Amino acid sequence: MAGTSGRRRTLEPRPSAQCESIDGVLLLHLIPATKLPRESRPRHLSVGGPVSHPSSKVPLLAILPNLLPLSTLLSTMSTNPSFVLRAVEDVVYEERPIPDILDDEVLVEVKKTGICGSDVHYLVAGRIGDFIVKDPMVLGHESSGLISKVGKNVHTLQPGDRVAMEPGATCRVCEDCKRGRYELCPDIIFAATPPYDGTLARYYRIPADLCYKLPAQLSLEDGAMMEPLSVAVHAVANIAGLKTNQSVVVFGAGPVGLLCLAVARALGASRIISVDIVPSRLEFAKQYAATETYLPPKPEPNESKLAYSERNARTMKEKLGIEERGPKSIDLVVDASGAEVSIQTGIIVARRGGTYVQVGMGSAEITIPITTLLVKELNFKGSFRYGPGDYPLALALVSQGKIDLKPLVTHRYPFTAAIEAFETTKAGKSADGKGVIKAIISGPDVSPNDH
Ligand SMILES: [Zn+2]
Ligand SMILES: [Zn+2]
Repeated sequence: MAGTSGRRRTLEPRPSAQCESIDGVLLLHLIPATKLPRESRPRHLSVGGPVSHPSSKVPLLAILPNLLPLSTLLSTMSTNPSFVLRAVEDVVYEERPIPDILDDEVLVEVKKTGICGSDVHYLVAGRIGDFIVKDPMVLGHESSGLISKVGKNVHTLQPGDRVAMEPGATCRVCEDCKRGRYELCPDIIFAATPPYDGTLARYYRIPADLCYKLPAQLSLEDGAMMEPLSVAVHAVANIAGLKTNQSVVVFGAGPVGLLCLAVARALGASRIISVDIVPSRLEFAKQYAATETYLPPKPEPNESKLAYSERNARTMKEKLGIEERGPKSIDLVVDASGAEVSIQTGIIVARRGGTYVQVGMGSAEITIPITTLLVKELNFKGSFRYGPGDYPLALALVSQGKIDLKPLVTHRYPFTAAIEAFETTKAGKSADGKGVIKAIISGPDVSPNDH
């Protein structure tokens, strides 16, 4: 275990470096934001309400009033500008030291990062379940980039290689790692899950074997999208074990729901039904990967959730011709919504002996029709992140043209506009009213137009 704890120690959050090389020359200073007069505090460096860590020891990058735009500031930062969550609704750009790498690690210049519901959740709530942000943490975990430096023992990668990064480094020696379910490793170091820093920085260090070389036909944006795609591959291919000619219902047509539809199609599912309460999402799902769509009715006043779900399931079965058994039954239900009524409806529409997979994260406590689950002998399973073989299968499906990730990237932002990307993802649409599926933030040295 010595190796494990060794790596852990070196990945602990480190204090920010002072940025002396630029101090003076460009009239930029490192000033704790709280020491600035209120009116000159770096407004576009901080989201939301008051700075809630007044005693933070971390020096914050601030722009002296009216001197240089943020983009100029970041392009002159000599080391490792990083987008840091300090507290709820409180994010800043900080200069961090360039990480040192171990012999089996690489340093990646991060080029594209997708924003995920979980990143937004940490920003607005400061926690997801038991994962609580206590110290400042760099956000972002859906990333691709260029290899910048390789450790002594790394022979498979070279500086300049374009890679997708799998953002969870596991211990490799625990029971779960050794039985091939490394996503359950208790010592996983997962990007942007407290206390570990994420990838929204110029540089990120990572074990070499978690970097997957991108074939020439794949873009760096495709590389970043490998993360949510691997979540879908894990749920549909690995946890559910979908077979060809099986029928699938996916609740929720957000990024992960859409990707579950795409994986089901790529693996040869016969019926692929998308369910969502937003009609425009269903339209997208239909032209993207679904064979059928279903828009649930609105709940009636005073109708209990379970009564609504029973009515919803009945209507759905009638409208789509779904039966309890036989060729018109549903082999696999995937919930990518986390909504209680979707979960209840899913259990009711699944066939006898069918499979139900929970991949969406929603309310922590819900009521489920447990007797229905029991008498149908449903395989009721959880799906968390991704495990062995998921990234490689995701890459293969995209490389062979079986899944097209490009239509899912709806919004692109420069590194300096990371806040906007978060706000857009949180709101579900940008100021111009365009619905967001996936927003991508470019690294500090790459233009959003350069995919
Ligand atoms: Zn994600
Ligand atoms: Zn482990």
